[in-house]
Amino acid sequence: EARLISPQRREDDSDASLRPLALADFTGQEAARANLRVFIEAAKTRKDALDHVLLVGPPGLGKTTLAQIVARELGVNFRSTSGPVIAKAGDLAAQLTNLEPRDVLFIDEIHRLNPAVEEILYPAMEDFQLDLIIGEGPAARSVKIDLARFTLVGATTRAGLLTTPLRDRFGIPVRLNFYTAEELELIVKRGARVLGVGMSIEGAREIARRSRGTPRIAGRLLRRVRDFAVVEDAASITRELADRALSLLEVDTIGLDVMDRRYLEMVAVNFGGGPVGIETIAAALSEPRDAIEDIIEPFLLQQGFLQRTPRGRLLTPHAFRHLGLAEPARPVA
Ligand code: ADP
Repeated sequence: EARLISPQRREDDSDASLRPLALADFTGQEAARANLRVFIEAAKTRKDALDHVLLVGPPGLGKTTLAQIVARELGVNFRSTSGPVIAKAGDLAAQLTNLEPRDVLFIDEIHRLNPAVEEILYPAMEDFQLDLIIGEGPAARSVKIDLARFTLVGATTRAGLLTTPLRDRFGIPVRLNFYTAEELELIVKRGARVLGVGMSIEGAREIARRSRGTPRIAGRLLRRVRDFAVVEDAASITRELADRALSLLEVDTIGLDVMDRRYLEMVAVNFGGGPVGIETIAAALSEPRDAIEDIIEPFLLQQGFLQRTPRGRLLTPHAFRHLGLAEPARPVA
């Protein structure tokens, strides 16, 4: 099923138009921005490449955007690829040898690199060298190629998905968190200006509140609500219009979508609220475990609907209230 508010990127997103271009225009993530600002300044002063940066956080929180901003602030080229796209060591070698001094190479979903490709990344990151094996069998020989001093910016949903040797080679780890309603409100207002659509404060607040803590979803909801405004020939997006549009799109009042509610209802009804193991949940929802852990659960955990316990996932009283279900009597621990 199409998940309107899925935080993953989709074909029709046209993310580019709403993308902030400078660190100063990037809303929220104070700690991440403050850190990056210092390290970027230092690298520019030293006229050296910025240390390698690992961006960690759920989809749609701005990892790609920040990587582009880093390159822009450094005044260098931005090259981009992703873990699953790099099939062979040679593909990555070609990318690396094309880099100019201090360029940024962005690898999205870096936890999905195949091990043979990951191997050549270690000396590239550490010594700016490629160790390649040319030829096969007895004729095989190894060659070393010097690379420009570059900055690798890797992005991943969970740091724990990376192998230790890869994780250890990033000097600047940066965590991105879900955005507050206030931050999303600013993002929605800015987006409305970019799209040239009138937006009331209450309208922006309503969209923000229902964006699942995620700028990508805020942008997507904004565009759908704008379509309603256009069809209805409304001068400005009011709270009422936003509410009506978003209800039709099956986004609930706090931004939970169909998948979130399926998850919560399933654990509540079929498993009495848990604790229930992640494998059992994945089987019951017919979704891959990774997708559940990376995309659905982080927001439910952050919102206090869900707890991770040694015996499995456990719904909180808050979740039962939101679902309008009675909490089952549980034995006192
Ligand atoms: P990720 O790489 O983490 O999946 P992206 O960087 O592609 O996320 O961001 C998704 C969308 O959200 C883009 O349209 C981007 O412009 C927007 N966005 C992300 N972070 C911010 C922010 N802090 N301020 C404004 N827009 C943002």
